Amino acid sequence: CGIVGYVGPRESQSILVSGLARLEYRGYDSAGIAVIDEGGTLGMRKRAGKLARLRESLDEAPLGAGTTGIGHTRWATHGGPTDDNAHPHLADDDRLAVIHNGIIENFSELKKELIAEGYSFRSETDTEVAAVLLGREYRTAGGDLEAAFRAVVSRLDGAFTLLAMHEDSPGVVVGARRNSPLVIGLGDGENFLGSDVAAFVEHTRSALAIGQDEIVTITPNSVVVSDFDGNPVEATPFDVSWDS
Ligand code: GLU
Repeated sequence: CGIVGYVGPRESQSILVSGLARLEYRGYDSAGIAVIDEGGTLGMRKRAGKLARLRESLDEAPLGAGTTGIGHTRWATHGGPTDDNAHPHLADDDRLAVIHNGIIENFSELKKELIAEGYSFRSETDTEVAAVLLGREYRTAGGDLEAAFRAVVSRLDGAFTLLAMHEDSPGVVVGARRNSPLVIGLGDGENFLGSDVAAFVEHTRSALAIGQDEIVTITPNSVVVSDFDGNPVEATPFDVSWDS
């Protein structure tokens, strides 16, 4: 239900959790984050229930410090509100993480296709199908995350804001949207993605809107938007006027 992504010089864990706290007003039943740590390993923590449960778990055992990360609050549509069904969902030997708002209408046919190829699943969500598919496409694309992501979103029907990152590409978060919101927050040597500006309003008031059926790749110093076919798109800037 709420989405935040961060790339930059700062430790991402607290940026993600505070972004999720600002998105709590939307309602949710679970929360989770993933971070690529300084050693290049992807760590993930997710909990059903309030954000406080996730915070407690992170206080007890923090993820490795890292400056690339994604965070999610879930409003369950497919699969009950359990730890396993919470996002992020991992694939490619737990080296990539995906978060998702919305509903992937054709998830069951995609899931059958992947199961027939020998892939297995750890949740009942529609979202995990996108994660496992991204793992497969990542191999096919020879480790090109954006190309793999493009191949995945073009196969999904329904509504999605989707974010992904892979431990082979620290400093990169990719996102896409169809019938579901996603905005970019522009910082100084850092960039953000959010399901709405609340996700990053405490860090920047400079934002870019992403259009329907568009993909964005952010790094600390770049933002590139394109359509699902790969044609470059000029994103529309807007000033965040938000009384925080
Ligand atoms: N359909 C997904 C799920 O049930 C995402 C729900 C959401 O938008 O939070 O996990």
